[in-house]
Amino acid sequence: MPEYYDLHTHSTASDGAYPPAELVGRAVLAGITRLALSDHDSTAGLDEARVAADSAGIGLISAVEISATWQKKTIHIVGLNIDPASDPLREGLAGLREIRGERAREIGRRLDHYGLPGVFEAVAALAGSGMLTRTHFARHLADLGLAGGVGDAFDRYLTHGKPGYVATHWAAMEEAIAWIRAAGGAAVLAHPRRYKLTGSWLRRLLGEFREAGGAGIEVASGTAAPGDVQASADLARRFDLLASVGSDFHGPDNFWPKLGRLPPLPGDLVPVWSLWTR
Ligand code: AMP
Ligand code: MN
Ligand code: MN
Ligand code: MN
Repeated sequence: MPEYYDLHTHSTASDGAYPPAELVGRAVLAGITRLALSDHDSTAGLDEARVAADSAGIGLISAVEISATWQKKTIHIVGLNIDPASDPLREGLAGLREIRGERAREIGRRLDHYGLPGVFEAVAALAGSGMLTRTHFARHLADLGLAGGVGDAFDRYLTHGKPGYVATHWAAMEEAIAWIRAAGGAAVLAHPRRYKLTGSWLRRLLGEFREAGGAGIEVASGTAAPGDVQASADLARRFDLLASVGSDFHGPDNFWPKLGRLPPLPGDLVPVWSLWTR
């Protein structure tokens, strides 16, 4: 039986719209047979997702999407097939939770000065025990009618140069990779085309990522534009990286890739799951 992989998704443990069990149910309906739940800086959804995946008969790959800083730029590194009980990983993620909490308070203060009081409190309630992200701010600002939607709220309030923007120093790239490796996982550079890096910067990033122990790169991504698969495949070949496939599904605002809708991996690439299926 063919396997259909989606190795990058979110639940309410971070900024996804669906609780882990519901996400798994939707993955089953979409025809996915091997699903990684990769919440931002959190593994809190994995237990619930595993129970749901076991009862539905699909495979769950424990994962996390770590926020990292490289050359003052934010990058995202997906750790696949991790042991969430690993101490270095848990300590690293605990530090990122602190950073996220502090940042969210600061975003709230800035929006307050801008004339929008009470946003932090509302957003903290919205996120509940989940990891606080800018997506929660964007949803709340859109709900208040202050933006036309989540994307518009990012553009108006939350991106560089906007009233609620806070520059954040996340984990160093090398640290994030080390935590993932300590947890027995494979570090995959997420959505490489979304960082707005020039070709030479992107190659520099990949060289250093590989040097630091990075294992793979997302080649087929739900958020990729036409041409991105080929460009990312070329990077995988050049830097001898394994290839991953992930939709970056967050909820109904994103499309869920129906079977076969994520572009297939070029046949010469080695898929990242060869690490744990051989
Ligand atoms: P954070 O890690 O808290 O800075 O939030 C980053 C998350 O915000 C990403 O993982 C996306 O889910 C979401 N995001 C970033 N930019 C946009 C955008 N322009 N429109 C919608 N969602 C976005
Ligand atoms: Mn997100
Ligand atoms: Mn990301
Ligand atoms: Mn993501």
